[in-house]
Amino acid sequence: MSTYKHILVAVDLTNSAEHVMRKAQQFLSTNVTQLTLIHAIDYLPYMGFGETALITPTYSIPNEELISSAKQPLEALQKKLGLEDNELVIELGGAVPAIVQYADENNVDLIVLGSHGRHGVKMLLGSTANGVLHHANCDVLAVRVHD
Ligand code: AMP
Repeated sequence: MSTYKHILVAVDLTNSAEHVMRKAQQFLSTNVTQLTLIHAIDYLPYMGFGETALITPTYSIPNEELISSAKQPLEALQKKLGLEDNELVIELGGAVPAIVQYADENNVDLIVLGSHGRHGVKMLLGSTANGVLHHANCDVLAVRVHD
């Protein structure tokens, strides 16, 4: 029987997000009391106009736009899976620090995320699962996903 109480599900905006969410959802039939979804937006912050425009790249998108464009597909997925009552957290910044920090600050005892099963250099460069596994202070479930 699971002893997990608060599960954090890390979701990106790829097709594998549904698979990861469905796997995490299975824990809801145990004694889990809280399931939170988290998505991190790793992008240059929007710096506004005026003087700062000199250092603002022309391709900057306001943070609110970034947040709502990430929220839309994830909320649709929540609805599809009947998880609309579960909290969806959107953080600006890198996925690994955002996931680990949220878990540390919110008594998360299991993080669920996707893993492509990369090996060697590919794994060292750009594997969110690998980064979370090495920095998290709780259990991590890596759900195998396909590219
Ligand atoms: P990756 O190794 O970056 O291809 O991603 C593997 C898994 O990490 C995904 O299936 C998600 O569970 C999680 N993940 C990747 N990017 C993000 C993100 N921006 N926010 C939250 N979770 C993410």
